[in-house]
Amino acid sequence: MSQPIVHVGGQVVVERPHFEQLLDVLSKKGYRVVGPTVRDGAIVYDELTSASDLPVGWTDEQEGGRYRLKKRSDEALFGYVVGPHSWKKFLHPPVLRLWQAKRSAGSFEIAEENQEPSRFAFIGVRSCELHAIATQDKVFMKGQYVDPGYKSRRENVFIVAVNCGQAGGTCFCVSMNAGPKATSGFDLALTEVLEADRHYLVVEVGTERGAEVLSELPHKAAHQDEMETSERIVAKTAQQMGRSMDTTGIKDLLYRNYDNPRWDQVAERCLTCANCTMVCPTCFCTTVEDVTDLTGDQAERWRKWDSCFTMDFSYIHGGSVRPSAKARYRQWMTHKLATWIDQFGTSGCVGCGRCITWCPVAIDITEEVRAIRESETRQKEDEHGDA
Ligand code: SF4
Ligand code: SF4
Repeated sequence: MSQPIVHVGGQVVVERPHFEQLLDVLSKKGYRVVGPTVRDGAIVYDELTSASDLPVGWTDEQEGGRYRLKKRSDEALFGYVVGPHSWKKFLHPPVLRLWQAKRSAGSFEIAEENQEPSRFAFIGVRSCELHAIATQDKVFMKGQYVDPGYKSRRENVFIVAVNCGQAGGTCFCVSMNAGPKATSGFDLALTEVLEADRHYLVVEVGTERGAEVLSELPHKAAHQDEMETSERIVAKTAQQMGRSMDTTGIKDLLYRNYDNPRWDQVAERCLTCANCTMVCPTCFCTTVEDVTDLTGDQAERWRKWDSCFTMDFSYIHGGSVRPSAKARYRQWMTHKLATWIDQFGTSGCVGCGRCITWCPVAIDITEEVRAIRESETRQKEDEHGDA
């Protein structure tokens, strides 16, 4: 049977058994294929050697401070939401050597790190994660300073997105206009369809590169009813969001509420452990550390992820600018939802829910916004009542 011509914007259907070949095609084209896999009781992102490395038949249950894997009753490939990892670990690595220096003839020779970029193929990127990647693109590539390492890794990535077939208990991408359907920033976007006697993927082509890869897999043109099924799945997911956030006037709300008593209440719970910033797909802060060997002949500079929840992060002139948990939590949330808008023109939050799931004391950013909004309303009503 001859294959239909694949074009950008078109949709085709790949039957589940043929999906296996996608990973081979990408590997043969020189991509390092990474995607979701089960490890240590969680779905993480790591190198995949075949489709059987995917979390086949697994789902996750998520709530504030809670994450559990559970078996599904089917063999879904993408029947879960996002785990503790995000794609930033590949594009903006947690630890990166920037340069090395060697002592020679009484001076030092600096050797720049050869950052030969890996050509990654990301499998299973969710819509909120596409938005998070676009947010980090602004930080690292679209400002005055361009991070050359990030740029070279980013430009080579092949992205296979997945439209979410279910929402997690802590997801709120709909509130942030970031999901659950992938609308841009992908080479291919899949919707997985599981029927009683059939398992297939509706694939939307985002780029010429995507069309070229897809043309090497057995596929057929998508029928109207298959495309409608795919739309219905995503629409149903949008109705199932575990959380929501009212973002109306959020920037000014937070700017008006630096002194809201809610910051004291959240600070009583916050452990300043930094988990929320580590799992957040948009947080980008780093520090640098210099190390030498014992002889003092060799020195290295390393860049490492840092967090606004550490005391050292705002340490200047013998003291930390944000010594209290209150100051640090307020800084983080106000940056994510308000100052980020002034800085980069968008929110720093895509509603992935990771900071809620992975907070050991279940602090919930959606709940904190709601509480500040309600507290301000109450204050206004009280003032009105007193007048
Ligand atoms: S909000 Fe939660 S995850 Fe973030 S620093 Fe505080 S305790 Fe840790
Ligand atoms: S702030 Fe929380 S919900 Fe928003 S993008 Fe970061 S981890 Fe996800």
